[in-house]
Amino acid sequence: MLSVVGIGPGSLDLLTERARARISSADIIMGNERYIGLIRDIIPSGAEVITGKMGTEVERAKKAVELGKRKNVVVVSGGDPGIYGMAGLLIEVLGDSHTDAELEIIPGITAASVSAALLGAPLSNDFAVVSLSDLLVPWSEIEEKLEELAKMEIVVVIYNPRSKTRTVQLEKAYEIFMRFRDGKTIIGIVTNAEREGCEIEISTLEDLPDFYHCIDMSTTIIIGSSKTENLGGRMVTRRGYDRKYDYDRGDTVIQGHENGDYVEAGKRVWEKSRAIVEDIISKYSGSFSEHERRVAEKVVFANADPSLLDLLVFKHNPVERGIERIKDGKTIITDIEMVKAGINGRYRKRVKCFVNDPRTKEIAEKENLTRTAAGIRLAKELIQDNIVVVGNSPSACMELFALIEQDIKPALIVATPVGFINASEAKEKVMSCGRPCIVVKGARGGTPSAVAIINEIINLSMEEEGVSRND
Ligand code: SAH
Repeated sequence: MLSVVGIGPGSLDLLTERARARISSADIIMGNERYIGLIRDIIPSGAEVITGKMGTEVERAKKAVELGKRKNVVVVSGGDPGIYGMAGLLIEVLGDSHTDAELEIIPGITAASVSAALLGAPLSNDFAVVSLSDLLVPWSEIEEKLEELAKMEIVVVIYNPRSKTRTVQLEKAYEIFMRFRDGKTIIGIVTNAEREGCEIEISTLEDLPDFYHCIDMSTTIIIGSSKTENLGGRMVTRRGYDRKYDYDRGDTVIQGHENGDYVEAGKRVWEKSRAIVEDIISKYSGSFSEHERRVAEKVVFANADPSLLDLLVFKHNPVERGIERIKDGKTIITDIEMVKAGINGRYRKRVKCFVNDPRTKEIAEKENLTRTAAGIRLAKELIQDNIVVVGNSPSACMELFALIEQDIKPALIVATPVGFINASEAKEKVMSCGRPCIVVKGARGGTPSAVAIINEIINLSMEEEGVSRND
């Protein structure tokens, strides 16, 4: 009879009774040295012990199958034998034609359960388990899984995080999670759970590198979701009871919690879209500065259109110039009211649009200009050293270019007018004028792009000044 037995994390009181019974009636016990060491005290004196090193598992499995035909053979596996353990390999070696009587599988407490219990209750909701070992699986496959999981609202347990020679895998996993999840996400790190030298840490995702030096092949890492918290030194993932029940009043349903669900759902959709956009940008081959990347993300996000990346042009350090000018409280002049209406409410009092000014109509009639071009001409004195955002009108762009030729110098131009007539030419002119500018080239663009660009510059300047967006 052949049994593959999970011995749990190491502490003998976490061994199941069935596992203990099989071990005590074994003629032969096989396993790697480490696991044999953990159960040494309960190995029957008459039993033969066959140890093997890591990397000799196939050989050991074949031998176990052979010996199992005549004797009681127990193959020990750490934790659970079916989770990155020997059970699968034994079935593979036995092949298609074996019977249940030839192999018995006895489960054990896996590292995820034992680590979770030591940390608190981080696995109270859906979770996934990934091994970072690329000895048997190509790294590209592991990376793909990590990316998909990092984007999801799910707790991720990491096995085999780091060995003496395999160190970059954890660093890469860290980068992936930082790309898609908030740096403040709660994480748990457990080394040698229920064994000598047990260490338990609760920290945040962004600080994971501080623990690299104490992470090895005896460590399990649990990366929380947005529902995971550190409550009184314990890591817990809320399952949703808090949304449904008011704990202080007993198990009464909180009225109207569905509204909360809508807010939650909205947040999740937003987070998912943001993750998709970040992924798109990270794969984009063009070169952006860090701040330009932030602006580009918002343009792709606003339009749900990655192809705009190839049309976005940043000239003469425009994002930095814009941030400086916003911090100085400079005026923004827009071509149409819709662009003005889209600008961050906290800056809108510094936004001016002259398209509906009575003087604009007069100028337009007298000079044979479009209303939007006349609006820009009326703003002539104001444009010097301020910011101009043209989201709609090619003729406003043309007028702006004419003013620049008269030596008026805007501090920053955002130009994304749309149209088949003149838009492309007007934007080429802006790009050649020598002023800091952000342009969506060609016929495309529009108000959403203009607003996305200027609002992200406003956000960046607020961030630099330490103002929270929610203040
Ligand atoms: N079959 C085992 C897993 C084998 S893979 C099980 O079910 O637990 C080996 C990985 O498991 C280790 O690299 C580590 O990530 C995790 N692990 C195993 N024992 C552990 C322990 N006592 N404490 C923390 N992590 C452990």
